Amino acid sequence: MRGDEKITCANCGITITWKPTIVDNKFYCCIGCSQGGPCTCDYSRLPRPEEKAPIIVKEAAEEKGR
Ligand SMILES: [Zn+2]
Ligand SMILES: [Zn+2]
Repeated sequence: MRGDEKITCANCGITITWKPTIVDNKFYCCIGCSQGGPCTCDYSRLPRPEEKAPIIVKEAAEEKGR
């Protein structure tokens, strides 16, 4: 995985700077979008990249680099 690739939500198109929810190899900003909406993001309180969202599909979460 390269570091400079932007991830955008496949549903609402927001640029995801935190841990995306990955469903079917597509990136979603939140579990709401991953289910076709509505988006449940709180845009004033987006999760930080270092925070692990509890909604990640484990299948796609590979550990690399360490
Ligand atoms: Zn979204
Ligand atoms: Zn969202």
